[in-house]
Formats: sequence, structure tokens, C-alpha cells
Amino acid sequence: MIASDTPDPYRLPREVIPQQYVLRLTPNLESFTFTGEVSVDILVTEPVNRIMLNAAELKITSAKVGSSTISDIQYDPDHERVTLELADRLEPCMSQLNLCFSGTLNENLHGFYRSVFTDSEDNQRVIATTQFEPTNARRAFPCWDEPDLKATFEVTLTVPEHLMAISSGAETSSQQLGNGLKEVRFAPTIKMSTYLLAFVIGPLETTNPTWVNGTPVRIIHPLGKGHLTAFALETAVFCLNFFEDYFDIAYPGDKLDLVAIPDFAFGAMENMGCVTFREALLLIDPATSTQQERQSAADVIAHELAHMWFGNLVTMQWWNGIWLKEALATFCEMLAVDAFRPDWQRWLTFGLSRTAAFEVDALTTTRAIEYPVISPQDAEGMYDLLTYQKGAATIRMLEQFLGAEKFRNAVQSYLRQHSYSNTETHHLWDALTAATGQPARNVMDSWIFQGGHPLITATADADHKVTLKQQRFSYSPQTEQASWQVPIIVAAADNHIEHLVLGEQAELRATAENWVMLNPNADGFYRVSYQNNLLTRLLQDGPQLNPLQRFMLLDDQWALTVAKQLPLTEYLQLAAHIAISEDDLAVWQRLTNTLSTLDHLSNNQGREALRQQTRNMIGPTYRRLGWEQTLQEDERTNELRGVLVCSLATTGNDQNVIARCRQLFNADATNPALDAAATTVVATTGNAADYEKIHRRLADAPTPQLQLRYLTALSLFTQPELMDRTLAATLDGTIRSQDAGFVIRDCLRNRERGVQAWRFVTQRWDEINQKIPSQIIPRMLEGICALSTAQLASEITAFLKAHPVSQGPLIVAQHLERLQVNVQLRQRVAQTLISSNHSP
Ligand SMILES: [Zn+2]
Repeated sequence: MIASDTPDPYRLPREVIPQQYVLRLTPNLESFTFTGEVSVDILVTEPVNRIMLNAAELKITSAKVGSSTISDIQYDPDHERVTLELADRLEPCMSQLNLCFSGTLNENLHGFYRSVFTDSEDNQRVIATTQFEPTNARRAFPCWDEPDLKATFEVTLTVPEHLMAISSGAETSSQQLGNGLKEVRFAPTIKMSTYLLAFVIGPLETTNPTWVNGTPVRIIHPLGKGHLTAFALETAVFCLNFFEDYFDIAYPGDKLDLVAIPDFAFGAMENMGCVTFREALLLIDPATSTQQERQSAADVIAHELAHMWFGNLVTMQWWNGIWLKEALATFCEMLAVDAFRPDWQRWLTFGLSRTAAFEVDALTTTRAIEYPVISPQDAEGMYDLLTYQKGAATIRMLEQFLGAEKFRNAVQSYLRQHSYSNTETHHLWDALTAATGQPARNVMDSWIFQGGHPLITATADADHKVTLKQQRFSYSPQTEQASWQVPIIVAAADNHIEHLVLGEQAELRATAENWVMLNPNADGFYRVSYQNNLLTRLLQDGPQLNPLQRFMLLDDQWALTVAKQLPLTEYLQLAAHIAISEDDLAVWQRLTNTLSTLDHLSNNQGREALRQQTRNMIGPTYRRLGWEQTLQEDERTNELRGVLVCSLATTGNDQNVIARCRQLFNADATNPALDAAATTVVATTGNAADYEKIHRRLADAPTPQLQLRYLTALSLFTQPELMDRTLAATLDGTIRSQDAGFVIRDCLRNRERGVQAWRFVTQRWDEINQKIPSQIIPRMLEGICALSTAQLASEITAFLKAHPVSQGPLIVAQHLERLQVNVQLRQRVAQTLISSNHSP
């Protein structure tokens, strides 16, 4: 903590405010260095003897402020700042700061960095590119690197003639310099935060622009990948139109480029006008990709474009507020993709993301969606499920509670009112209250500023009166109590719908004479427990549950099982009851995930029983669907076919299905969903020859999706020597550093070989931390949750205590707590499955 009278060492003083940057950069793609000059128009608001700004890993070679000279330059590498001591005091005025500097095109996937790929002639090619969020613009040029110090940026890049150069603004001129170089100038950007600026230089190609209401949209990609751009272009054009309409504000930039980068630490980044992506999320072959792969790409494209308004036009004041842009962009991503492909039923499949957030939020080590951020490392720790998925789920709950149209009006007025400036969370609630007359702030403060979520228990008395009560839902009984303002919707017989905001307790108007259903649209971020025989009533006398309701019911009951509030046998009975006639993809994904978790937790004796139960549950739907796609069925149905086949073969150990998957794997690919399932099945059940085959396919993979599919498959083999090969490849340069951490995570999850992967992590810890981008390390460690024996758990806990992960201590604490939850769950699973083995 920092005492209130100590200035925060990570914040810059406010006596000097940047207005406009004119930035010239000359990268050298052979020596991996760059030089630059920046002129900043500054407003000096108080007399100053020194100017402080951010710079990291840069050398300032000359400095001047207006007509005065600089007497000394002091670097503070710990706080990534530089102080320019002035020879004479500077009085309040408008002035100009001129700096020359040099730096390195690093390999760490942040700041100004290099990305390398091999072209079709087998030559290594280099791209110089940027990733500034949260606090890495300071690694490319000295600047006031805080989100509320907005300015305009006018960029000029001097680059080799044969390379393409792009930046956030539109190109205004390109001039050959006669020495093999050219100078490319770009139009000034809008007034925006430093973290949104970008520039990319390299052997790139572009699609022709498609114009959307005056904005040219292009997909830019490494050489030779133009045939994979149509899907992204179609999606981007749709989303740009969609958001201009939804927000009723024109796109704030002058052009929109979506750029595929071979090495990229995040999924994508919403740089103004120059959005950068991992290749797998932008370059798609519709013929070989699965619906899930296309949906992931569409999601991310929609998400980044929503940021052009939420984040870029209106920005959080400081990093504690990133949830505001991330949750809203995630929510808007669902809106846009749902409109783009209604048949994908995006709000239904959002249930899977909501589940992931619930799982973390049921731990005592969860956190409030918004919490204080001091250092850049605090900010790095915020890019997690609670910011994105729980944030988006609470926004969805609020939207449905207030009404979609009123919510939209409020969002429009919020964006208009705060364009080109910065906000705190309460500004959004104020806009919502003004637009709806509802106390949005009262309700939402309880969701945003405290961690956890409620369990709503419904009980009926002898007169069928139904009472609702809330308490904090947790996997651990030691959790501190808390309460929320819970917007609740209840459905009951005769089309009765009841809306209420639950404090501690409430009695419903509807009675339990027939049935009642809580959270019928599954948009409330709370768990439900039906007491007495309310659940039996609902299932027997209630309406036919829709997929969303079946999803939520299964999800809630599983959560209660993990929290020891429901016996596993009861969960399995409900699952079997639903499975028999289930035909929805999302419900099956939820169910097969749980079966796979049980498989991980089971010992060898219990596993046989689980395999039988899995085959019994999946069998009927699998036989209804068959292996052949029909003309009438939609994409989700075919996707379901892949999910069922995969689960039957792996968790169910069905030998016929395994044999058929092997045939498919060796035949020419025809059905992407089944091909993806077959790859997983062959790897899970395969031998060294299969490994070689997948390895070769990985090397020759014609699309980023196939590459990712084969890469993931390498972590599934169960032979020790094959696991060794995969692990070694994560650090010897074979696997890109952007992927290595995720491969290690998947290896840790390998039921047979996870321990081996853990030994590798402990032995190569320093190297892992050197080579893998820092923000991926906490996500890599998610894999430890699968290593749930008591002895391993204490070993892992001791290791991570001795080797703290400073860029995500809370995320690691959450993995460790979840690991303990799994240790206990493992014991109960063993008892239940073994006893079910003996039952007839
Ligand atoms: Zn985002």
C-alpha cells in the first residue's frame, strides 16, 4: 500500500500535459534496432524545473524543450520513467519537447517487437510490430503513457522500399529516398491514449478495401495468405455496420485495417485503425475450419471493433477501470455475432463463458471486478475471466433487467457525452439511471465492487408459499458472507412472470402449487438451489425446458455438487435424464466437459463405471445423429456430431468409435467437425507412429486453425517419450513463444502424463519465464488444477510459494485454491463411481 501523502511512483505529475505527438521512426529489420525522433506539443500548467515522462529500454540521445536546454537526464528503470532536468525554470506556456532516441526490436511480444515467419520459398522474414496495452508504448518512444493523457499522434516511418508500412492513421504519402528506403507518412490520429497507437512494417499484403459508410476496411497479412481473408473481411464489414448503427455514432477512425501477426501474445488488440490479431483468429479457410473456429474468429473481430467506441473513443481513466471497456466489448461482441449469425445462437453458447467466470468466482480468492491498480503488473493481472466474462455477464443481467432498448439509449448517450475523453465506472451507471429512471448504480455497485456471487435458495412451505433467500455461493464453507442487489426473474404457471430485486429475502407472488422457475432466461449471474420438491415439480409439471434452461439447470446442479451441497449421484441422475433426448450443442458441451472432468478425477476402478455411464448417456443422441451430415441440418448440429464422437471415444472409450476415428484420420478430410474430433481421438489413443504423422501435418498445415489443432494434439499422447518431445519443443524454438505456454498448460492437463509435465515446469522454470510472454505464465499454470492428488497439490503449492508469479499472483492463488477443491472432489468421485460400479 502507498500512504496517501506519498506520490504514486507509477503516476506522472500533471504539470506538463502532452497535446500532440509527431513521431518519426526508422526500424532496422536486420539488426533488430530502431531510432526515432519525437516532437511533443506540451501544455505547461505550473512552473517546472523538470519534466517527467515514461520511457523503458530506450536510450535518449538528444533532448530539448522549446529554447531551453536540458541539464541532465535521469532514468528510473524500476518505474519506467525518465526525468529531464531543465537548465532554466519553465513558466506555464505551450511549448515543444524534442527527443531523439534509440531502442531494440525485442522478442518479448510487447512494445516495438519483431515477429518472424518462413515464406513460401523457405526464407525467414521479419515483421516489426507493436503491442502497447497496457503500458508498453514507453518501450517504443518516450511518452506520457497513461490512458487519461490523450493526444493526437502523427507518425512517419522510414522503411525498406519493398516492405509495407501501416499505422493507426491513413497513409498520406510515400516517398522513395533513393537509398533503398522510403518514407511513409500517416494522417494524425484522433485524440486518444498512447496504448492505442500501432505501427507494423514487414513483407505484408493487403486485400482491396471494402468501403463501409466512407471507411475503407482491409485485411492485412503475411505474404501468400490472401486466400484466407474473405471470412474476416465479411465479418468486419458486418460488425462495423452493426456498431455504427447500435451506437448511432460514426466509426471514429479514418480507415480500418485488421492485421494478422505470426507472433502475438494476446488474442487480438484494438489499436485504433490498425487492429492486430493472432493469425488463427483472422485467417480462415471456411472449407476446413469448424464452426467453433469460425465463431472464435468472429467473436474476436466483433470484440475489437466494439472497442473502437468502448475503449478508444471513450477510455477508462486508469487501469482499475479496464473492466468497463472489456466487459462492454465482450457484451457487444455477443450482440454483433448474434446478429451476424443468428443460427449460431451466441447468447446460448455464452453460457459456457459464464460458467468459466462462475467457476473462478466461487473461490474465496476471487476478486471484485474493479479493484485498485497501482503498478503495471497489477494492470497485467486484470486481463482475466472476471474482467471479461463475469463483467459481460453482469452487463447482460443489467441490460435484460432494464430492457434492451433503454439500455442501448443509455449507452449511446454515455458514448456521446464522453467522446475523446475518459470515464470512471459510475459515469455509465449515471447514464443508465438518467435514461431509465432505475437505480442502476445501487444495483451494480454490489456486483462490481465485491467479489463472488449469490446462491438463491427457493423453499416452499405447507401453503405452497415460495420464499427466496440469498447467501454467498462458494466452494469453500469458510468464505466470508456478502449480499447483492439481485435482479431476479421468476416464471410460473399460466404465463406468470415476476421481476424483483432481491435483498436478503423475499416471498414470491407465485405459489408452488404448480411450479416455479428462477432465472428462466439464464441471464442472472447467480446460482439457484430448489428445495423441498420444487425441482421435481419443475421437471414433472413445468413447461418443456428450452436449451438455455437445461444448460443453466445442469450448470447450477454441477456447481452445487462441487460445493458439496448435492450428492454426485443426484447430478448424474439429472444428467442422464436430460441426455436421453438432448440435441443442443451447448448443453452437450457442458455435459461432456463435466464427464471429462470426472474422468480426470476418477481412479482406475471408478473409470470403468464412468466409461459405461458416458456411453449410456451419449449413445441415444449419437445414434440419432449418425456420422453423415444431412442437407437440412445446421452447422451447430454437425458441430455436435464432432463433440459426441470425441467424448464417446475418449471419456467413453468406445472401441468402435475409436476405430472409425482412426479411419477418418487416415482418409481425405471432408467434415471439419469430425476431422477435428478424429485428430483428438487419434492423439489421445495413439502411438509413436501417430505422433509422427501429426507432427508432419503440423509442419505442413495450410491454415492457422489446422496448425493449432495439430499443435494441441501433441499434448494429448500418453507415452512418456512423446510427452518429453512435446515439452522440449515448447522451449527449443520449435513452437512459437505465443503458443508454448498453452501447450504446456494442455500437457499439465494430460491425465496420464500431467505429472511429467509438472516436473518439466519445475526443472525449466527460469527458462520458461525467460522465453514465454509474461502475461501467458498465469494462464499456463491453469493446467495445475488437474493435478489433484493431495501430495502433488502440496508439492505444487510449495513450489509456487517459493517461485511467485508477480504479474498474476491472484490468478495463481485461484488455480491453487481450485486445485484444493479438486483434491476433495476427487475423493468423493472415487467413492461414488466405485459404489455405482456395484449397483445393477
Ligand atoms: Zn478487449
